[in-house]
Amino acid sequence: MKRLVIKVGSHVLAEDGNIAKERMLALVQFIAELKAHKHEVILVSSGAVAAGFTQLPLDRTSIANRQALAAIGQPLLLKMYQEKFEKFGLLCSQVLLSADVFDSEKHISHAKVAIDTLIENGVVPIINENDTVSVEELVFGDNDRLSAHVAHHFDASLLVILSDIDAYYDKDPNRYDDAVCIDEVTHISGSELIADQSPSNEFATGGIVTKLQAADFLMRHQKEMFLASGFDLSDIKSYLIEYKHLGGTLFTFNKE
Ligand code: ADP
Repeated sequence: MKRLVIKVGSHVLAEDGNIAKERMLALVQFIAELKAHKHEVILVSSGAVAAGFTQLPLDRTSIANRQALAAIGQPLLLKMYQEKFEKFGLLCSQVLLSADVFDSEKHISHAKVAIDTLIENGVVPIINENDTVSVEELVFGDNDRLSAHVAHHFDASLLVILSDIDAYYDKDPNRYDDAVCIDEVTHISGSELIADQSPSNEFATGGIVTKLQAADFLMRHQKEMFLASGFDLSDIKSYLIEYKHLGGTLFTFNKE
């Protein structure tokens, strides 16, 4: 039995201004399957802003509007999850955290009691950042770093990031046809962790940097991270259920 944190990005959950209901259902079904295999699962889900936008199309370039959209969308997102988990006879729950929870041992231990109690009772905690009071992830990160803290402080052995990309490559595969997929990473260099959106940086741009930061944080704490596609769950299913590493990238540490 393993405790896992699964983080799903907004690119996976939203499509053409709508919540991608089929993909959400596939994710929930997968979580039900993991629970049937006796895994404990915590879900970190983005998508509140996208869900809010389906109700009120505010300009998403302003942070204030994104805060407002998250406040509109969060209950809607949870309602959609509740309906889907119900199909599998499962209860889910909402846990909103701000990044500064992880600066205080007292707050961490309060949150952990709640998470442990939910899991003991078979309930799936769905964590998101409390975007109206804490805007860090709205500005930059899309919950990648939050999920690394969740995995570390709530005693998970593995963080799974389900993304619009199916693995980590030696350069951005959306810009370079000859990018090569990396199966396993045991060390991340300092330069890979620096956000650089300029076209001259062919190594890592955009959303991959916060994923590498999350992986680096976990590896330094003797935990693992697996980056896989959230559009097609077959690689992550093989890895977690059949113990076969077919696709996706494992970020691991030297266990000697
Ligand atoms: P999500 O929203 O699914 O969590 P993002 O879209 O924010 O993820 O980040 C993933 C994107 O990062 C990919 O679509 C890809 O274009 C880009 N990227 C840049 N460099 C790399 C790299 N070296 N390996 C994989 N993806 C990369």
